[in-house]
Amino acid sequence: MSGEVRGLTVIFTGNGKGKTSAALGVVLRALGHGFRCKVIQFIKGEMDSGELHLAGKFGGEFEIAQSGRGFTWLKDHTVEEHKAAAQDGLRMASTDMLSENYRVLVLDEILYALTKELVTLKQLYELIGKKPPSTHLILTGRAAPSELIEKADMVTSMESIKHPFKSGIPAQKGLDF
Ligand code: ATP
Ligand code: MG
Repeated sequence: MSGEVRGLTVIFTGNGKGKTSAALGVVLRALGHGFRCKVIQFIKGEMDSGELHLAGKFGGEFEIAQSGRGFTWLKDHTVEEHKAAAQDGLRMASTDMLSENYRVLVLDEILYALTKELVTLKQLYELIGKKPPSTHLILTGRAAPSELIEKADMVTSMESIKHPFKSGIPAQKGLDF
């Protein structure tokens, strides 16, 4: 079995920090091997995170797309707008999957979109079903439902032991965004 190329379905979940960071860590590792990678960000459509500035620095091998309208609780957009954005992201993911262009595809905060009912579990099942054999599919977000955990090959839950937010320290550039 050694050396077998097998794309896995991976979930990074839990309440602690590190879900998106872990997914980006996998992307960095894969890029090192010259593998093409893509991140589709759900929800955080209007936030300026460092990774957004990385596209183009890897000779086109890293792409990042935003398909969200910011956190739903900000009330800047209607539920319908959030849903339309999430559904756009899902369609993009489906196309990307079928294209077999990417060795790593990250659907960042897709589980949050699921919790907020912007996408359905059935849609995620269908998406996982389209995964090419050599693509690693990474889903992130708090509260992965057990049905999805069952479908995944690897699930890691980030446990929050201590977070600076609780001491009133705001999110830091280069660490949190
Ligand atoms: P990161 O993107 O830093 O890897 P994450 O993906 O695990 O974090 P998200 O739920 O996407 O976490 O939230 C992103 C932001 O929330 C980050 O700025 C992160 O530092 C912060 N955060 C994560 N865990 C906690 C926590 N337990 N308490 C407060 N803030 C948190
Ligand atoms: Mg995250």
